[in-house]
Amino acid sequence: MPRAARLPLYVLLILAGAVIVATLAMHQAQRHSLEDEAARAQDQLSLYANTLQTLIERYRALPAVLALDPELRAALRGPVGAETTQALNLKLEQINGAAQSSTLELLDRDGLAIGASNWKLPSSYVGHNYGFRPYFTQTKATGVGRFYAVGVTSGIPGYFLANAVRDDAGLFIGAMVVKLEFPDLEHTWAQGDDLLLVSDAKGVVFIANQPGWRYRSLHPLSDQDRTELGSTRQYDKQPLTPLTQEPLRTFNDSSHLSRVVAPEGTTDYLWQSLPLQPEGWTLHLLRKPQPAPEDLRNAALAAAGTWLTLVFLGLFLYQRWRLARMRQRSREELEQLVEARTRDLRTAQDGLVQSTKLAALGQMSAALAHEINQPLTAQRMQLATLRLLLDHGRVDDAYKALTLLDQQLTRMAALTGHLKTFARKSPSGLRERVDLACVVDQAMLLLDARIREERVSCVLDLTRPAWVRGDAIRLEQVLINLLRNALDAMREQPLKRLEIRIDAEGDHWRLSVVDSGSGIAEAHLANIFDPFFTTKPVGDGLGLGLAVSYAIVHELGGRLSAENLANGARFFFCLTQAPEAEPLC
Ligand code: ADP
Repeated sequence: MPRAARLPLYVLLILAGAVIVATLAMHQAQRHSLEDEAARAQDQLSLYANTLQTLIERYRALPAVLALDPELRAALRGPVGAETTQALNLKLEQINGAAQSSTLELLDRDGLAIGASNWKLPSSYVGHNYGFRPYFTQTKATGVGRFYAVGVTSGIPGYFLANAVRDDAGLFIGAMVVKLEFPDLEHTWAQGDDLLLVSDAKGVVFIANQPGWRYRSLHPLSDQDRTELGSTRQYDKQPLTPLTQEPLRTFNDSSHLSRVVAPEGTTDYLWQSLPLQPEGWTLHLLRKPQPAPEDLRNAALAAAGTWLTLVFLGLFLYQRWRLARMRQRSREELEQLVEARTRDLRTAQDGLVQSTKLAALGQMSAALAHEINQPLTAQRMQLATLRLLLDHGRVDDAYKALTLLDQQLTRMAALTGHLKTFARKSPSGLRERVDLACVVDQAMLLLDARIREERVSCVLDLTRPAWVRGDAIRLEQVLINLLRNALDAMREQPLKRLEIRIDAEGDHWRLSVVDSGSGIAEAHLANIFDPFFTTKPVGDGLGLGLAVSYAIVHELGGRLSAENLANGARFFFCLTQAPEAEPLC
């Protein structure tokens, strides 16, 4: 895919990623806020449960206390006349008023109400039999009973708390019953936005703070439950329609999110439940979840922001990595290029050196052949002449011819002598410590005779000792060459002055030979160090002295140079100073 086409795709992918991340974050935030709200609702639920239980607790002991009343017990022992009933009614009405319970009633051993606090009302319990009610059967069997039911006579629902009344022998003779109604409670609970329900063990709601919820079953009732409810007439004629609910999410055993289908519409509720013991009831709190939209928006924005930051950070790092890699690559390419070029250069240089060597060899061979051929030809001719002279018995002339032959041989010996000095290689380890001043002394000694003969005035200004590392014999050879050349140059000069100096120059010794000779012609300056270059007449010079000297000084790490002076010439070279030591001469 072309680069230009990829860019919008990448942008689209990044944006899609941001949307997905934001959506996930919103869901997560919603979940968190639901869980928080569920926890809060659970706390509130405990408070509501507390109120209800306190209310019930307040009356729990009342029937037990009244069951001990001698008057009530006496009434239950014998047949009850109208007078007794009236007295009981009045007493119960009075106590009910004082205790602020809903109704008080006294049942005989068969469940017949022989006295009730509501005796004045049309819904009076007096004369009705409640032997079928579970609270009576429970009391008869266990001594206590409790039961929530809709009043069969009054039609008003309430909580019946009963206690057995016993005679002195401890036999069951009747039951004292307190009925509690909760209209006030329902009213108080109705003030809040939350929906509060109390269901019994069968799941039937009997207290609700909003209309339409009471007498609904939270789950469908079994046939057995329905038969039981029919026989106890607990909720009398109420239809007990089941509530349709669909759990959406469960947070824990007592907390979930449910979709409830009610006549007034379908609503999602955060549903908290709390069992109420010992009644066996369950208290429910239903709340419409209201996650704060700004919280969700903030979560979505934060997640999208983080996502984009990470993406851009990733892109930035990727870009940096790519740049570094490109730099690394170009550096490597450059290095390879430099290496290749260096290799080429070295090869070229090697080739050059090789060809220079070959050229030098050729030049040298040609020159040597020429230099040696000449005296050889001459010698052959002289030998032929010698033979002729001897044939003719001219012994004196033969002697003269021998002298010439001798001269030729001397010349050839000089030639090979030079070459031998040049070819002689001192082992590198044999670079002894040499005092340059001593070398000068030796050379001067060898040439002493000639200097005297030619009346040359010598000036020696030598720093002593002047230690260098080198080969004394070869250095002496250099000096002799330079001095001979100087003497040769001064041969025709009226003023003959030779100056030899050794001066310190930094960490070098500088040796110079100055003469007052003819000087070097400008045109020759560049050639005097070439092998076989000479300006001297044939037979006098070989043109090897300076070339050999140059090579020797060069090998010792110096450079032999020449320059013209106002009168004469100067030859000089520098060598590195060697450490001090005792003078050898
Ligand atoms: P040769 O002495 O056999 O000629 P060299 O290599 O020693 O060979 O010298 C080469 C040439 O350099 C000499 O022929 C001469 O022309 C010139 N030369 C050397 N030394 C001096 C000097 N001191 N003054 C003038 N010319 C010199």
